[in-house]
Amino acid sequence: MFIVFIGPPGSGKGTQSKRLTRDLDIPHLSTGDMLRQAVKDGTELGKQVHQYMESGGLVPHALAINIVGERLDQSDCQKGCLLDGFPRALEQAESLDGYLQQKKKSLNVVLELRVDNNELMHRMQQRAEEEQRSDDTPETIARRLGIYSNETAPLITFYQDKGLLETVDGTGSPDEVYQRIQSSIDRRRA
Ligand code: AMP
Repeated sequence: MFIVFIGPPGSGKGTQSKRLTRDLDIPHLSTGDMLRQAVKDGTELGKQVHQYMESGGLVPHALAINIVGERLDQSDCQKGCLLDGFPRALEQAESLDGYLQQKKKSLNVVLELRVDNNELMHRMQQRAEEEQRSDDTPETIARRLGIYSNETAPLITFYQDKGLLETVDGTGSPDEVYQRIQSSIDRRRA
């Protein structure tokens, strides 16, 4: 099963993705994690993306597309995977479409995790204190939420038009949210 998981920063997408990929036994492709790792390892890519990530902006589409393409080519992704944090803009979604078409594969479902902005700001400030992520300052949080509405949210209509969208209410306990996700997945598998 090929799943795209869309949700604003702080929506709980990362946590839910981990649980879902464990249960479905498919690889979890988080572009945020891959890019953070590259920065940590000090690779050429890491050096190129460091500034963008620090400021809360998107890294250039070509770099994100490239890192995902390389990962999707690996053998463990041939039967399915969950994409967490990619695509994040129409250009990336179109590129993913082209890639899958070329490989004669297609997306099964796009999960959108929906949480309102006040709740998101609150959750992210909490996460900033707990995890000390350097891109969780109030300014970068606001910037990342802005980028989500301007660049990523248009993907919701894009995938809705393709009949792939499942919107999940992201409020409540992680268990409650996960149950809703499971129902959406079950509907798509039926
Ligand atoms: P995340 O952990 O998904 O919130 O991603 C952390 C940061 O990595 C983002 O704020 C971006 O700077 C960068 N990033 C992750 N995924 C992408 C993507 N698909 N396109 C561009 N930048 C990305």
